Amino acid sequence: GKAEGKGQYRFFDHAQSNILKTRTQLRQRLLEAIDKRQFVLHYQPRVDTRTGELLSMEALLRWEHPQLGMIRPDEFIPLAESSGLIVPIGAIVIDAACAQLAAWRAQGAVPVPVSINVSPKQFLRGGVQRELADALARYHVPAGLLEVEITESAMMGDQAEILAELAAIRALGVKLHVDDFGTGYSSLSQLQRMKMDVLKVDRSFTAELGRSKEGTVFFQAIVSMAHALGMEVVAEGVENEAQLTILRALNCNEVQGYLVARPLPAASIAPLLAQRYLF
Ligand code: C2E
Ligand code: CA
Ligand code: CA
Ligand code: CA
Repeated sequence: GKAEGKGQYRFFDHAQSNILKTRTQLRQRLLEAIDKRQFVLHYQPRVDTRTGELLSMEALLRWEHPQLGMIRPDEFIPLAESSGLIVPIGAIVIDAACAQLAAWRAQGAVPVPVSINVSPKQFLRGGVQRELADALARYHVPAGLLEVEITESAMMGDQAEILAELAAIRALGVKLHVDDFGTGYSSLSQLQRMKMDVLKVDRSFTAELGRSKEGTVFFQAIVSMAHALGMEVVAEGVENEAQLTILRALNCNEVQGYLVARPLPAASIAPLLAQRYLF
């Protein structure tokens, strides 16, 4: 793809430094990061499997530390979740995504919907629907431009409050994505009852495409059942043409992965919005 090769940031390597080694230190630095707003969102395109048309994007969080540089979410999300700091960080993500959508609109770009990752901890605390509605109103962004990703495992069990919150979010006009599908234990009919709009198949399954017959058969079964139940399917982690060819044959709706584009800073997204077709 055209966007390939851009935005290949050098990330800070946790193992090389002891600065973030202890929980206490990391927590202290995260508090500082929240206070000083050291977070930015990068955006990874999702395109139509057949045509390469840019249809939507995923907002992925990065921590830009003034000394350490860019820090990956895997380095700090787990502690943010266990310490409760994911709640203020999640609020920053919601605000930043809506602000960016408004900025693209103000620049005359025609934005595509942006999905944000919402942690189960945010749902358990409640008020996510309110935060989304407030941010959309604050920036005059139509609800159809914002989408929410929640991992499959986060929705399982009998968490009535999460389900009520998800229903309220969907009632705003915000689409719901099941993230990392295939790694939890839900059934597709369960997800349909929960009115999820999009299934994002975990990249471990994409990696199996073309490698094993079982991998392809499994993916095919997911796609046809999801379609029968009225859900769209996104393949995560698409890295090569062979996978794309199989996904076309399987009628998978959208693809996301390094083959099309890496997560990119907002400034690199504007030209892609104009280009529209990324294959
Ligand atoms: P995720 O939601 O499953 O996001 C997809 C991850 O796969 C991203 O890693 C993305 O950069 C990476 N990826 C995309 N295409 C490819 C590919 O073709 N090959 C491979 N190997 N990887 C690919 P990233 O950005 O490091 O994010 C890691 C995780 O951190 C995310 O996994 C998500 O669970 C979490 N995360 C990211 N942003 C947020 C956020 O704003 N809030 C919360 N709560 N979690 C977030
Ligand atoms: Ca995600
Ligand atoms: Ca995922
Ligand atoms: Ca994941």
